[in-house]
Amino acid sequence: MLARDFILWLSTKPSVTNMIARRGMKNGFARRFIAGETLEEVLTACASLCTEGRTISLNHLGENVSTEAAANKVFETYVHLLEQLHDRKLPGNISIKLTQLGLAVGREFCENLAHQIARRAHELHRTIEIDMEGSAYTDVTLDIFEAVQRASANAALAIQAYLYRSENDLKRLEPLRPKIRLVKGAYREPKNIAFQEKSAVDANFKRLTTQLMEGAARGTFFPAIGSHDPAMAAYAQAEAARLHVPQDKYEFQMLYGIRRDLQDQVFREGNPVQVYVSFGTDWCPWFMRRLAERPANCWFVLRSLLAERKA
Ligand SMILES: Cc1cc2nc3c(=O)[nH]c(=O)nc-3n(C[C@H](O)[C@H](O)[C@H](O)COP(=O)(O)OP(=O)(O)OC[C@H]3O[C@@H](n4cnc5c(N)ncnc54)[C@H](O)[C@@H]3O)c2cc1C
Repeated sequence: MLARDFILWLSTKPSVTNMIARRGMKNGFARRFIAGETLEEVLTACASLCTEGRTISLNHLGENVSTEAAANKVFETYVHLLEQLHDRKLPGNISIKLTQLGLAVGREFCENLAHQIARRAHELHRTIEIDMEGSAYTDVTLDIFEAVQRASANAALAIQAYLYRSENDLKRLEPLRPKIRLVKGAYREPKNIAFQEKSAVDANFKRLTTQLMEGAARGTFFPAIGSHDPAMAAYAQAEAARLHVPQDKYEFQMLYGIRRDLQDQVFREGNPVQVYVSFGTDWCPWFMRRLAERPANCWFVLRSLLAERKA
């Protein structure tokens, strides 16, 4: 826990993040998790995943956009991504963050852009997924998701197992028959709203998996199990079998470059796998959260930086 907190704290220090950002792509350590900085690079990486039978969700890295002009640019990028997926016949969708779509500019402004993206996706017979960010945004993200799902019926939402509120949030969302990406949660949250211990988060992840699978058996949820934890994957498969939920009524989601062995294993066992592929030049905060999840990842960053010093 201490290492995680320390890395999340470092991720707010520009002197650290700038140094990592300058060297990450050059030294290669960032490439393990980030498929590339340009659309061409990422689509090349995705084509081979798709040939193997995976689907993809494309995320253009960046968060906390504070001007209308910048949010409109992000909007155009996402529409372009949807059109590229369509033109290249790649199976998949896009994942968006509302803070990137101008939530700080205004709720209405952001909701309007989210509606337009979902509508364009609908025209192309595609879906969109909305990431869940820090707890300051949970309520507004749920509200905007509900509005978009009511209007276009092609949106999915991430729900975080570390938050105490998530069971009730799922009850609220169930009438909309949504796809829900269940994740443990990647931000630093206080103990009055979130479980702090890994064992407690894991236990809640299992409870919410059961809640989602029960919904899948009734036809009201499409569960997407977003975890690299083999215990969570095994639990989800056991619950699906117990509740007679067929394998095409749920999926696993994992991040590009992480636990490729587990990705292969669940895929070989007949489960659909969607890979969340992040790309873009603004990758540092996202990369730091991946380091915080697994401080052992810091070693390959350090090794890479030390190797450069020696050279
Ligand atoms: C598809 C997807 C989408 C996500 N979307 C969101 C979102 O919208 N909002 C949000 O808050 N969080 C999101 N997350 C992140 C999530 O909340 C967790 O922080 C992250 O997935 C780590 O938790 P875990 O379930 O993989 O298991 P953990 O218990 O953290 O780890 C289990 C095992 O997985 C492996 N592992 C986990 N992380 C790493 C890593 N970084 N590098 C190498 N190995 C690793 C290790 O073997 C580890 O022992 C998403 C995760 C996924 C997979």
